[in-house]
Amino acid sequence: MRKPLIAGNWKMNLDGAGATALARAISDASPSYGKIDLLVCPPFVYLKTVGSVLNGGAALLGAQNMSHEKSGAFTGEISASMLKDCGATHVILGHSERRHIYKETDADMNKKTLAAHAAGLVPIVCVGELLEEREAGRTAEVIRTQFDGSLAGVSAELMAATVIAYEPVWAIGTGKVATPQQAEEVHADLRKLIAERYNAATADQVRILYGGSVKPDNAAELLGQPNVDGALIGGASLKAEDFLAIAAAG
Ligand code: PGA
Repeated sequence: MRKPLIAGNWKMNLDGAGATALARAISDASPSYGKIDLLVCPPFVYLKTVGSVLNGGAALLGAQNMSHEKSGAFTGEISASMLKDCGATHVILGHSERRHIYKETDADMNKKTLAAHAAGLVPIVCVGELLEEREAGRTAEVIRTQFDGSLAGVSAELMAATVIAYEPVWAIGTGKVATPQQAEEVHADLRKLIAERYNAATADQVRILYGGSVKPDNAAELLGQPNVDGALIGGASLKAEDFLAIAAAG
């Protein structure tokens, strides 16, 4: 059985004191969430501080992005090994804000996914359609193209250790959550695609998270879907109470 993963994407929010306080509240509660994995993804500059607060607790530490380059003259970039060095075990890749604001492509995502695995980080690879793509009936095609482009060359063994996050762009930060049926349809299609590209055993192991306006009051129904293995949470991950309430629904 897949262990649910409840991940908080703090985006570019909080200051040092706020990040520490949030991490402490989550860390203090984390032992009571033994049946699920809790993950927090603070901004790069707070990774070490948050990591030291989480240290010894049950919650995991992740980053929100990384460079695919190993080292060198790449001003402003952060490598996978630097994230590992700060205690991160996971990294979010290809979030829709990276894809749409910073124009990152599936080819970029592919290099990053391979680099994350090479460094021993678990990539959380995000896919998701725009509203106009959904309305044009193109959701499945868009998701499949993003999946194939982002995961090219990933072995079955590493695929099993990859996390996929389905985040419909129209549901992110908008308060417009996908219905549990809409989420389940895409998640089931993604699992079918993994079985096609790899095999059924691999497809069974991959955790597929839903993201987009997950809140304490809609979490149970979303997380209750057979192919929804957790959530990637933005806004509601900034309040320990909300984040933990969502985790409790997992
Ligand atoms: P949201 O963000 O929960 O604020 O909609 C989700 C995400 O961007 O990962």
